Amino acid sequence: MSIRLRDFSDVSIEDYDAVVVGSGFAGAVCAHELAERGGKRVLVLEKRPHIAGNMYDEYDEAGILVHRYGPHIFHTGNQEVFNYVRQFTGWIAYQHHVLADWYGTYMPVPFNKNSMDIAFGEEKAQGLIQKMVDKFGDERKVTITELRESDDPELAEVADFVYENVFLYYTQKQWGLTPDEVDPSVTARVPVFISRDDRYFQDAYQGMPAAGYTELFNAMLDSDNIDICLSTDAVSVFDLEFKDDSEDAALECIKIKDREFTGPIIYTGPLDELFLGRFGRLPYRSLDFVYETYDEEYKLPCATVNFTVTEDYTRITEFKRLTAQRSDKTTIMKEYSRAYEDPDAQIPYYAIINDENNAHYERYRDLTRTLPNFYPLGRLAEYRYYNMDKIIELALKLSREILASE
Ligand code: FAD
Ligand code: UDP
Repeated sequence: MSIRLRDFSDVSIEDYDAVVVGSGFAGAVCAHELAERGGKRVLVLEKRPHIAGNMYDEYDEAGILVHRYGPHIFHTGNQEVFNYVRQFTGWIAYQHHVLADWYGTYMPVPFNKNSMDIAFGEEKAQGLIQKMVDKFGDERKVTITELRESDDPELAEVADFVYENVFLYYTQKQWGLTPDEVDPSVTARVPVFISRDDRYFQDAYQGMPAAGYTELFNAMLDSDNIDICLSTDAVSVFDLEFKDDSEDAALECIKIKDREFTGPIIYTGPLDELFLGRFGRLPYRSLDFVYETYDEEYKLPCATVNFTVTEDYTRITEFKRLTAQRSDKTTIMKEYSRAYEDPDAQIPYYAIINDENNAHYERYRDLTRTLPNFYPLGRLAEYRYYNMDKIIELALKLSREILASE
């Protein structure tokens, strides 16, 4: 069995009950559920020449399995979601560790008790750790925003250290903003952890698909009820009809191949692109990835090293440490964050969450509310900072709602 690829020019739209735009987790989970649980005939439109969205991985020239759109580590507290992804492929147990390169010294991130020993020396750290435990409790997570609100001079010293040496430069590189300027939910993703637990995530369920994410997506989209058109941009094949000619006129219907499509349309691309940026482009951050292969077994001490005080890239990831692959070569990848300026040449990876941008997004979202069969879903279409597990949870919920409503 394998996925069923079709050329869009050969497709008869009346053969389908649902259209899904995008084949990342948002699109692929919906396509699978509608097709396999609901018996719907689903057409997936994907503008890239491959499936799997940002999770896409492939073997490079050195034979190393690499992620093409940033390193993806699966972690969730939601057992249903973990069981769901596990049905498609074997999984390997994996716990992610990140070290900050602090002027050549490695320090665990999230900043924790072990990092404090390195930053302040064990003797001084002992007193500071006790202060942290007294104030916040042991084995607790504290955001840098909360820690900086402390007026105790010793806790303020810890807060200043973490702010200056873990968050400031990394955040400036990643967002072009200081930690004070980004939404607090962004830095809260990586809280200070009053613990000796050096793992990046503490979720109950963590792992990596044994044969890679692309194989997982191949299994998820392998259905007699799913046809997939690659290299097909929905924006160019959708014909949008509006209630009137005004700028704020809401969507009345979407035509595909000259026919109004009345079945569910699940859209997982950027909403501003769908409307050709009529209210101005939504701001995103993009990334450039630079790969290097070495004739060495390993290059890094752990899977990811964050450069929090030096270098113009944010982090380096060594894929073999994520995938447990054995080879006498290794491939690493450096991530450079960029402003998103050219939709034709760049990929929008991160929505820049703030009140102004959220309101800007809502203008686009309002255009779609009048069309009951149109469902925006995912990191791009909802302009949110979602991890994979959240998207899967939302996609399962949406597909159930769609099937229940029919
Ligand atoms: P995507 O995966 O982006 O899929 C959207 C798909 O829609 C793409 O294939 C795109 O080509 C397609 N598309 C867009 N517009 C159109 C159009 N007009 N026509 C046709 N197709 C279109 N999450 C984790 O849980 N763990 C991690 O370790 C992790 N690491 C990450 C690292 C990076 C660098 C980034 C950027 C994200 C990371 N994430 C991680 C988040 C994860 O990538 C997202 O949660 C996930 O990709 C969301 O799935 P999605 O389907 O919404 O979007
Ligand atoms: N962050 C930081 N230093 C680090 C790690 C994270 O400043 O060493 C901040 C930075 O603003 C980053 C955010 O925390 O964008 C979220 O980090 P995460 O690792 O979750 O980012 P992602 O993997 O989603 O790119």
